Amino acid sequence: MRGLYIGRFQPYHLGHEAVLEAIAKDVDEIVIVIGSAQESHTKENPFTAGERMEMICSALEEADLRRRCFVVPLQDVKRNSIWVSHLMSMVPHFDLAYSNNPLVVQLFKEAGVEVRRPPMYQRDLYSGTAIRRLMLEGGDWKGLVPCKIASAIEKMGGIARMANVSRSDACRQENLEDL
Ligand code: ATP
Ligand code: MG
Repeated sequence: MRGLYIGRFQPYHLGHEAVLEAIAKDVDEIVIVIGSAQESHTKENPFTAGERMEMICSALEEADLRRRCFVVPLQDVKRNSIWVSHLMSMVPHFDLAYSNNPLVVQLFKEAGVEVRRPPMYQRDLYSGTAIRRLMLEGGDWKGLVPCKIASAIEKMGGIARMANVSRSDACRQENLEDL
């Protein structure tokens, strides 16, 4: 059996890891889809699909899940009625999907795909939005993502990138963070 799990993974965090570990008990193989693959260098989507793929693969390696997962980037089509067929044309065959996103659940159900809804793990703590906010505010985000991901983000200058792409050019700035 093969399950599919989709997210934007901006960034991949310990909530995602907990879901994947639960899915791995349910199915033999997992297709992990990196959604909005075309997006990067924005406040909401700081990392490229390639960076997200590298981060996810290193976390999977640590969790001993790499052998059982396909990691596939997927661009948006901005046309919900054809999204499932677009997805299916870009990923390996899967038997069922896991999601809690109401739109994703609706679209899969209409297309006749079985959907399971994994439990939420401390959603107040483990949420991409909350983690990106902590990154911008200089808060403690590192404990909310796998260690490998925290060090990859630091090494690539991810925090400075987020700070820079979040600024406006409304007034002259002397303080662009080091790239
Ligand atoms: P964002 O706030 O940027 O949307 P996110 O934490 O929701 O980030 P996504 O990449 O959108 O992360 O998530 C992919 C999938 O993982 C979604 O189905 C989402 O519901 C689920 N998910 C996110 N956080 C958790 C969590 N703490 N526990 C269980 N599932 C989660
Ligand atoms: Mg989300």
